Amino acid sequence: MTLRLFCTDLDGTLIPDGYCAESPGARQAFARLIAWHGIQLAYVSGRNRLLVQQVIEDYQLPYPHYVIADVGSSIYSCYGHNWTLMQGWHQYIGLDWVGCSVNELYDCFAKIPGLVLQESEHQGRYKLSFYVSPEIDHTALIRHMQALAATHQLAVSLIYSVDHANNLGLLDVLPAAANKLAAIRYLMLQLGLRPDEVVFAGDSGNDLDVLSSELPAILVANAHESVRHEALRRAEQAGHRDQLYVAQGVKGKGHYADGIIEGIHFYFPDLRGVGK
Ligand SMILES: [Mg+2]
Repeated sequence: MTLRLFCTDLDGTLIPDGYCAESPGARQAFARLIAWHGIQLAYVSGRNRLLVQQVIEDYQLPYPHYVIADVGSSIYSCYGHNWTLMQGWHQYIGLDWVGCSVNELYDCFAKIPGLVLQESEHQGRYKLSFYVSPEIDHTALIRHMQALAATHQLAVSLIYSVDHANNLGLLDVLPAAANKLAAIRYLMLQLGLRPDEVVFAGDSGNDLDVLSSELPAILVANAHESVRHEALRRAEQAGHRDQLYVAQGVKGKGHYADGIIEGIHFYFPDLRGVGK
């Protein structure tokens, strides 16, 4: 069994979000582990293309082979600085919003109290993003928004996360077929990869679908208790408990890149001793 593709969320997973301290040198050790074994790297983020590129520069992250951006609603194939949008994916997820722009979609939800539109750089062709209070009953809100979208014949996926460092609820509206898991599966299909050749790492609400899927996954130790609880519950329910590794801090504290390395070593013990 060989690790061919490592997929990781960025904020709060590979890079610190201010909630917990980062282990010194862990990010560099992660970069060495990936490079030495020629593992293909995919960043899977809620950020858009420009904001992913910015964080790669700011944190001197290894250049990825693929970027799944906008919470799974865009996939890029990357060759250094040259990134190409995988059009097939856009065409596929776009079927859910046929003929509807993000602005028209916004009109459906404009009158709902408590929804605050995020800044323009957080909006995408197939991603409409709001801030909400973390205290809001997000389950009821999501049900209401889904029903409203359906009256316009739009199939949407609503993904809720909490930015614990800033105490903000984040709500993304995507085409129903788009999320991080579906985008990773599409990429695996393109690359001809099996689930046991892939590992994913994440930390928050928009990672839950992958964390509880058939793909081997790592939840970093800095993840909020509520995410840990929900990830374990969903993985158990789906019969995928063996495909979820919760980092606990074996050598370091298991936060961020340190937790990623711990999880990769758990799934692929042959890679131990490398990348220190
Ligand atoms: Mg995150």
